[in-house]
Amino acid sequence: MIRGRFAPSPTGELHAGSLVAALASWLDVRALKGEWWVRMEDVDGPRCLVDSAVSILHQLSLCGLHSDSEVIYQSRRNSFYEQALHQLIAKGLAYPCACTRKEIEEQQANLGLSLERHKSAVYPGTCRNGLHGKPARAWRFNVVKWSELRGSPEVHWTDRRLGPQSQNVQEEVGDFVLKRADGMWAYQLAVVVDDAAQGITHVVRGEDLTDNTARQYLLQEALGFEHPHYMHTALVLGPKGDKLSKQNGAKALDLSSPQAVFLAMQSAASTLGLSTLAQPVSESADLDLALSTWTKEWAQRYLRASP
Ligand code: GLU
Repeated sequence: MIRGRFAPSPTGELHAGSLVAALASWLDVRALKGEWWVRMEDVDGPRCLVDSAVSILHQLSLCGLHSDSEVIYQSRRNSFYEQALHQLIAKGLAYPCACTRKEIEEQQANLGLSLERHKSAVYPGTCRNGLHGKPARAWRFNVVKWSELRGSPEVHWTDRRLGPQSQNVQEEVGDFVLKRADGMWAYQLAVVVDDAAQGITHVVRGEDLTDNTARQYLLQEALGFEHPHYMHTALVLGPKGDKLSKQNGAKALDLSSPQAVFLAMQSAASTLGLSTLAQPVSESADLDLALSTWTKEWAQRYLRASP
């Protein structure tokens, strides 16, 4: 069974950028004749709002995008993440870490590590061999050990749009967090556990997330999961050429009428390189027709060339 997903973090309503990810993942599974599941990535408790999840689902339904399964909430799936962490601990691939953010920065400065990657330098591995008598705060994945076991720190994968990718996770990222000091599950662990548990075969999401894929590959290997196929789509850019986000002034989507919905979808489709269709009259049939036209175009454009 082909299965894709849209996995928003409910920290606000959908904006033009997140609608592109929703539409792209929907078109992809429709073109592949699979299922599309919506998953609320609300592990980051304090930042996630129940109202946002409700609004997002309403916005998606106005756009004709309906989940083929019951919507899944990560905040209700603690036991699955706990189980995966225990599996990694049992294999010696996860270790507790006592370092505070400030201590990590000091260790990095002492080692001359620069802050080049997303403004956070590689974790220097301070607690890899023990806590030095300090209390545990977070849990980290032992990238060094897993790299040895798998025979290489280099992860190679092929993106369906961007082509061959590689990353040396050990050098470029380091031992990354699985469970945070505040007790929240890290995105990397939750996403890998859920993609596997839900049988997701095709992940389609924004290009800003490309860099996470190598880490997710390593966790999938270590937990014995299959790798889904990955595709990262073009982003909607904000006024300064950076990714559109709530922080840089993404406006709320106007979905106040069938015409407004059509225009929002049209603009998402054009970010994906799909054609602009004739202006609608007022009926939702226009949207259904547009979605089926874009599905055919998607198949032409992305399925034929896919590795
Ligand atoms: N929850 C993530 C976000 O909203 C998406 C994660 C994913 O698609 O893997 O940015």
